[in-house]
Amino acid sequence: MAGKILLEVITPDRLVVRDEVDMVIATGIDGEFGVLPNHAPLLCLLQTGEARFKKDGSIEYMAITGGVAEVFENKMTILADAAELAREIDVKRAMKARERALKRLRQREKIDVARAEAALRRAMVRLKVAHRAGRLESIPPETMGE
Ligand code: ATP
Repeated sequence: MAGKILLEVITPDRLVVRDEVDMVIATGIDGEFGVLPNHAPLLCLLQTGEARFKKDGSIEYMAITGGVAEVFENKMTILADAAELAREIDVKRAMKARERALKRLRQREKIDVARAEAALRRAMVRLKVAHRAGRLESIPPETMGE
């Protein structure tokens, strides 16, 4: 059987994950990438997106808000502004955050568009991760569809 890799997901507030896992997939600024045990050293900027890891045949999904990933000596460290395991996601809160961001973006003038888009992305990633883990039947649209 193949070896494991130690995964640590750390935010300014807390240690979210510390576990020996079989594989990690994270969302870098250029898209998804996978890390298996004994991966070559790596340093990669992350974008707000999904990460997942496989352990003993089951997959855990996480929402990651920005940050960096480092792989060194069979350990992967994800340092993120925020991170939640799928089961920790407050779906109602993410729905409200999505609605707030969409409302702001519809106003168009006098808003910080980049900030509202980043908030929308965080909310959508949380909703998608909750959906992937079976906690939400369907994902609401990312736009108001005007
Ligand atoms: P909100 O507007 O609802 O606060 P946000 O995207 O602005 O959302 P962040 O600044 O990314 O929130 O996160 C602040 C803290 O709240 C972090 O610790 C993050 O893990 C947590 N958090 C944010 N949204 C959720 C959620 N839907 N479920 C669980 N934890 C959340």
